Amino acid sequence: MLRSTGAVEQDIAAYHTGLVGRGVLLDIPRFRGVKWLEPGEAVTRAELEACAEAEGVAIGEGDILVLRTGHHRRRLELGPWNNSPPPVGEGKAGLHVDAIPWMHERRIAAFLPDGDGEAVPSVVEGITYPIHPLQVAAMGMLVSDSLQFEELREQVLAANLELAARGLAHASFGNVSGVDRDAGVVAIKPSGVGYSELRAERIALVSLESGEHLAGLRPSSDTPTHLELYRALDAICGIAHTHSVYATSWAQARRSIPCLGTTHADYVYGPVPCTRPLSDEECRGDYERLTGSAIVEALGGRDPLEVPGVLVASHGVFTWAGSAAEAVEQASALELIAQLAFNSVVLGGEVEPVSEALLDRHFRRKHGPTAYYGQR
Ligand SMILES: [Zn+2]
Repeated sequence: MLRSTGAVEQDIAAYHTGLVGRGVLLDIPRFRGVKWLEPGEAVTRAELEACAEAEGVAIGEGDILVLRTGHHRRRLELGPWNNSPPPVGEGKAGLHVDAIPWMHERRIAAFLPDGDGEAVPSVVEGITYPIHPLQVAAMGMLVSDSLQFEELREQVLAANLELAARGLAHASFGNVSGVDRDAGVVAIKPSGVGYSELRAERIALVSLESGEHLAGLRPSSDTPTHLELYRALDAICGIAHTHSVYATSWAQARRSIPCLGTTHADYVYGPVPCTRPLSDEECRGDYERLTGSAIVEALGGRDPLEVPGVLVASHGVFTWAGSAAEAVEQASALELIAQLAFNSVVLGGEVEPVSEALLDRHFRRKHGPTAYYGQR
């Protein structure tokens, strides 16, 4: 079936425009009431059927079976392990080979597991991986291993809780998001949900490209601002939004925060800009998206990792970084910077921005190729 020019049958290129179908998720750890399946544990046909029944779903012809074993969750919490068969490694959790006739009878079109989908060691003597050849070669099924089901939502949940724990979010104000750029998915706090009510499965998932709501509760009303920022600023993968007291005071005064000291220079290269006020027309129109555009405009082409936040006039502050957790760090740092600057200005006297040399020295010793601060 294979020639030098490619496969004659079952060519993977047939999927080059994507695969559209009904996905059915069977979450086995959730069904068992555990965090993850241990290496070597096999999911039998009987368990797949019981799990589907418990979830109230039916799987049939043309469906895409999405199987969660908790592989990545275990890896996140316990670290990597050798998943070769014992005695070399510890093996891994996945399907029992008796699930194969079940998949064939149901005419399932595709199989998308976390991990790589089959239990190691296998129950078939002498064959380490009996399932992949049966699925791919014998049944012509599309198989794609190692899907990520939880990390982004878990990260975004933890970052939102951290925002609240640091006192940066009053009531249900504020929100944190994270983006998986490979998957084109943004995870964000759901709209109007108190921080104590947040759970990973309630975190909203939306499409980065279209903004379509994909999963979880209804996303934050600020979602279009986050999307606009992710689309405009390729380097960022996490955003935090708060109405923290001092940063918001500067925003309400519609004043950029000048760089008055080295604490500021450690985090932000130069002033923290403030957006122009939105026009009445913009406020009545696509307000949240236009807030994002105004932030990008205020950033004025500067590197978003050097200026990791912008004040939004009369509103609050948005900060960003390489992850949701770091965006919260930046929100916390920006609040401190805003407080210090406020106090400095109130105390009066000769309040001047730091020199270019001092700014350079402090920012560059912590960030970029010449950084030397900390344990490296
Ligand atoms: Zn707000």
